[in-house]
Amino acid sequence: MRTQVAIIGSGPSGLLLGQLLTDAGIDNVILERVSKDYVLSRIRAGVLEEGTVGMLDEAGAGERMHQEGLPHDGFDITFDGRRHRIDLHDLTRGKRVMVYGQTEVTRDLMDRREATGGVTYYEAADVTPHDFDGAKPYVTWKKDGSDYRLDCDFIAGCDGFHGVSRRSVPEAAIRIFERVYPFGWLGIVADVPPVSDELIYANHKRGFALCSMRSHTRSRYYVQCGLDEKVEDWSDDAFWDELRRRLPADAADNVTTGPSIEKSIAPLRSFVAEPLRFGRLFLVGDAAHIVPPTGAKGLNLAASDVRYLFDGLREHYADRSDAGVDAYSAKALARVWKAERFSWWMTNTLHKFPDSGAFGQRIQEAELDYLFHSRAAMTSLAENYVGLPY
Ligand SMILES: Cc1cc2nc3c(=O)[nH]c(=O)nc-3n(C[C@H](O)[C@H](O)[C@H](O)COP(=O)(O)OP(=O)(O)OC[C@H]3O[C@@H](n4cnc5c(N)ncnc54)[C@H](O)[C@@H]3O)c2cc1C
Repeated sequence: MRTQVAIIGSGPSGLLLGQLLTDAGIDNVILERVSKDYVLSRIRAGVLEEGTVGMLDEAGAGERMHQEGLPHDGFDITFDGRRHRIDLHDLTRGKRVMVYGQTEVTRDLMDRREATGGVTYYEAADVTPHDFDGAKPYVTWKKDGSDYRLDCDFIAGCDGFHGVSRRSVPEAAIRIFERVYPFGWLGIVADVPPVSDELIYANHKRGFALCSMRSHTRSRYYVQCGLDEKVEDWSDDAFWDELRRRLPADAADNVTTGPSIEKSIAPLRSFVAEPLRFGRLFLVGDAAHIVPPTGAKGLNLAASDVRYLFDGLREHYADRSDAGVDAYSAKALARVWKAERFSWWMTNTLHKFPDSGAFGQRIQEAELDYLFHSRAAMTSLAENYVGLPY
């Protein structure tokens, strides 16, 4: 088999890149380790920057998002029993974010791929990129007991944090930057109306909490938890009690409880691999970088990587210029590091750190006091939250 761009991974970055390439007449094949249903069963991101929304529109996958997604003009931060609104729309001169679940983004992109004849091989085992240092890279995999080979011009490693692409690069060629946080997020999804029309980020002495949503009838809630805690030890009732304790009284009284339909614990990590290009292999999205979810940046960074890579590949095929693919790593990393900084800052400002002590506590209080009383500080938060320009 032969294609122009072999894409490893059918998450948001692989699907978005594949669709933009297909629409530009550039042949591509996606290889995905698990089944389509399994990919669609993952519940993850939910806050989309305007740039991400624009790219989904460009890929012809934005129609349902505009019908069912919830545009948000702001969010609340609660601290010391009080609520402070960050008015994104006012502070950024008219920008907003879109609340629309990653599962729905993935479904819309998969539907569009099917409608436009894009090829995806699901349940492809042992996917392995080869010879990406030379001019003739290829990818091999196994399915149903048979071996397959796909020759290509380029390989896009869109296979997430645990994928094969980053692991295929010689250790000496890659530099890793990492911070692991001393806590996780216990999250649930429940079919109950959200506590508020907008997201609430809570800094409480018992730990951080986040009230988010997927629709007017489906809520997504998180509480900060210890790394040693087990999801089986958290009954739904215990979760709801803990969430309410961390919210101001008016919000706590408004929480509608119900059975969880998903409950899990996610560790928090900042991670960047440099560079993002190794010959004819590119790392894209979570394959190259992870942010703690506090700033809602992971999926959005995957989209901005795709922006730079797609533009470079289009230039390569349409204009016979490699300027764009040559610049991919530096351009994408410049934006990645700004989002890493913002996600790190949000995490530091809103969580309880077990070892920060009384000094750390006072610094956090001063940070929040400054934020709530300085339009400049709120503007900085808002412009990062809605997404820096590409
Ligand atoms: C609990 C949680 C909440 C989050 N909240 C937000 C949020 O609010 N906003 C936000 O922007 N981001 C958020 N994120 C991050 C976001 O989900 C990711 O950044 C996003 O999924 C990255 O997309 P991706 O396509 O790069 O990687 P992935 O979504 O991980 O997709 C990679 C794909 O590659 C496949 N794959 C892996 N290995 C192989 C292999 N060897 N061969 C073939 N295929 C392979 C996987 O099965 C997967 O389908 C959250 C993440 C979590 C876990």
